[in-house]
Amino acid sequence: MEQEIVLLGAGYAGIAFLDTVIPELTADVRITVIDRLPFHGIKPEFYSLASGSANEEAVKSPFPQHSQVTYLQDEIEEIQIAHHKVICGTREVPFTHLIVALGSIDHYFNVPWAEEFTESIQTFAGAMKARGSVAKLQEDAHVAIIGGGLSGVEFAADLREQFPKLRITILERSESILPTLPVKLHTYVHNYLEDQNIQILTGIQVTLVEQGFVHYAFQEHPISFDLCCWAAGIKPNPVANPLLAYSNGDKMNRILVKDTYELPYLNDVFVIGDCCSSPFAPSAQLAAIQGKQLASYFIALWHNREYNPAPVKLKGVLGYLGKKKGFGMINENVIVGKLPNIIKSGILWLHKHHMG
Ligand SMILES: Cc1cc2nc3c(=O)[nH]c(=O)nc-3n(C[C@H](O)[C@H](O)[C@H](O)COP(=O)(O)OP(=O)(O)OC[C@H]3O[C@@H](n4cnc5c(N)ncnc54)[C@H](O)[C@@H]3O)c2cc1C
Repeated sequence: MEQEIVLLGAGYAGIAFLDTVIPELTADVRITVIDRLPFHGIKPEFYSLASGSANEEAVKSPFPQHSQVTYLQDEIEEIQIAHHKVICGTREVPFTHLIVALGSIDHYFNVPWAEEFTESIQTFAGAMKARGSVAKLQEDAHVAIIGGGLSGVEFAADLREQFPKLRITILERSESILPTLPVKLHTYVHNYLEDQNIQILTGIQVTLVEQGFVHYAFQEHPISFDLCCWAAGIKPNPVANPLLAYSNGDKMNRILVKDTYELPYLNDVFVIGDCCSSPFAPSAQLAAIQGKQLASYFIALWHNREYNPAPVKLKGVLGYLGKKKGFGMINENVIVGKLPNIIKSGILWLHKHHMG
């Protein structure tokens, strides 16, 4: 039977799926990929696009090509399950099989005006807009970064390297930055950032953002800023929400799926990446594993083989602190200094060239 597979999103999960299935495609399969971007955007590097330390080409990778794979550049607006079609800005696309790999968006936790008055590094367009705003700052301007997780920390360190006189403050809700990492690691990063003259305020519950000011709980006086970046949390792309009618959401509202990534109460619709529930936190690494596993499920179907996915095993976390230093944890071992940067750069290079 002919399969018209429509893949929504060519990010980490989508590209891993494509790279794995393309060599194994059978003649009766067509894949249509829809993404708003005409290239694969390397999201973990978007902070460097925003800071100005990397150019656009550094965070782009070409789509893998095959005569049975078509790419449509469009904005996906709605998934109509009942009609087996996807509604986009300029067209409607029918499917027999649907794979949703739309990633996540900023979560503003209902903080008033946060979306309006902060910059985002979640999308290519957002990072490009932030880049424009950063470029216009005075040399001693104040940048407030809300969120001391991986993306906030990497952005702060990278900005510092670009702009030595900028005043930079990280505002973090937890009692430490990088709260999910071991104490030894987040203490190292904290001390390193403070040595770089980056102010870190922890236990800060942001309650309101307005033009030029961040307000936070139990404080009369807000913090003023020239530029504010929101890096405080993510949630699954709401375009995927109609699929919750055929499954349940986890506590992050990520969609629960079977071990084949198919919805539990709807055949032939699959979810991978940041939209897909997992015992693990969302990450590029996890999204890529899920993309590869779903690919191996389709390949098994096409070639009448058994589908035996290996349990998901993550290798660890790596973060940049500018171009020369980094931090990370690989197989439970803490590493800091130059090595994590070298490893992370190598992983990104392999990813960019579709080799990992
Ligand atoms: C600044 C930053 C740093 C990060 N650092 C790391 C890191 O060091 N390590 C790590 O493992 N993870 C990191 N992450 C997280 C990682 O990037 C994500 O977990 C990963 O990209 C998720 O993959 P995905 O395929 O689910 O979504 P994505 O890679 O985001 O792909 C989603 C795709 O869908 C497209 N899309 C979305 N909505 C629409 C629409 N409506 N219409 C058309 N197209 C649409 C997008 O253009 C995109 O191509 C970082 C994230 C950020 C923002």
